[in-house]
Amino acid sequence: MKKFVSNNPEESKKFAQDFAEKILAEKCAENGALVLALVGDLGSGKTTFARVFAEALGVKEKVKSPTFIIFRKSKLVDKKWQEKRFEHFYHFDVYRVHDEKEILNLGWEEIISDHKNIVLVEWADKIKNILPGNCVKINFKHLRGDKREVEIA
Ligand code: ADP
Ligand code: MG
Repeated sequence: MKKFVSNNPEESKKFAQDFAEKILAEKCAENGALVLALVGDLGSGKTTFARVFAEALGVKEKVKSPTFIIFRKSKLVDKKWQEKRFEHFYHFDVYRVHDEKEILNLGWEEIISDHKNIVLVEWADKIKNILPGNCVKINFKHLRGDKREVEIA
């Protein structure tokens, strides 16, 4: 369990970037996809974190949030990631999902069992029954003003 308190968006971005580098190096050899489960209220910083994480992978995400499309799949073009086994980045936002079946029907089991995938899920508590046991849980909290807490569980 590791807690970080950020005082402004810039600090949060720096944290997300450092975290991305660390976790990607650390989880290189594990089986199945690398699944990051982001949990926290609206405005607590999940999307900010997701964007920086994507950027660290060399993915430029469009402004449109995946809230409206459930997920976005991006190919990792940088050879560096392929050498490290990763080929695709999935950014899910399951805010509007009411039934885990909706996600299962998108080929979820296949996505999370593929060793080449990095799968980040915003509002992951909505699909907690279908998250893999080895997923990395990240809790976001809106403290006061611009203060945000990020906890890696
Ligand atoms: P979520 O996806 O959890 O709803 P977002 O990342 O979309 O949250 O929104 C966080 C909002 O809070 C953004 O408008 C961002 O500019 C603002 N913000 C203010 N302070 C911070 C901080 N310390 N860290 C992250 N975001 C912050
Ligand atoms: Mg969001």
